[in-house]
Amino acid sequence: MREPRAELFDSHAHLDFADFDGDVDGVLERARAAGVVGVIAVGSGRGLESGAAAVVLAARQLDVWATVGIHPHDAVLADDAAVAVLRGLAVRPRVVAVGETGLDYHYDHSPRPRQRDAFAAQLRLAQELRLPVVVHTREADDDTLAILRAEGVPWGGVLHCFSGGERLARAGLELGLHVSFSGVLTFPKADGLRAVARDVVPLERSLVETDSPYLAPVPHRGRRCEPAHVVHTARKLAELHGVTLEEAARVTTGNVRRLFGL
Ligand SMILES: [Zn+2]
Repeated sequence: MREPRAELFDSHAHLDFADFDGDVDGVLERARAAGVVGVIAVGSGRGLESGAAAVVLAARQLDVWATVGIHPHDAVLADDAAVAVLRGLAVRPRVVAVGETGLDYHYDHSPRPRQRDAFAAQLRLAQELRLPVVVHTREADDDTLAILRAEGVPWGGVLHCFSGGERLARAGLELGLHVSFSGVLTFPKADGLRAVARDVVPLERSLVETDSPYLAPVPHRGRRCEPAHVVHTARKLAELHGVTLEEAARVTTGNVRRLFGL
């Protein structure tokens, strides 16, 4: 009998960042060799360029899908014209979500009122296009939840790279959102996060991601992260839920497919 093989899905990677220049095909080869059956290329983080790059990548790689959005760091760019450009990108083939969008009060790279406006505008765009949303929130739990509740997320979404506490996780689940765990889940000091992953978020609502090129899981910590590394986060999640890696991979990969309609 063949060994069962873990079929993993990296639900969040920034493959358009300069860290991957000239190496995207190699990165995807290594991911496939590690059992990664799909990657969501997040088109957000370098202004509108990211969205365009993710759309192009997804068009030429059958195991890559794209999102398009304006990151909270870039919220000052999100005027009406930019949202119109996003709308044009979002209807392209293999674009499966709007985001990442949200609020980041840790770095405050854009003024908070601009972040809130950009977030609300992108939630409305997602609703109009019947797409789920990829949400980034850091040190902004209350405002993130207030805006999600006010605008609504009828097509679902994900709290990506979750690093919040129990209250945010429960509120997100109540809104119908999924919760995605990154390499942080493997960090020695992340006991609080591991408790949330184990006790609060059911496996049926959990995703795994790398957030490449950031946040490489143990044992790659401190180096460039790439989608092949998602196996370490999935293994930790499996351990927390007392299931095999193959089972955790099967459930989380199914969650990605359902959420994004793949
Ligand atoms: Zn990201």
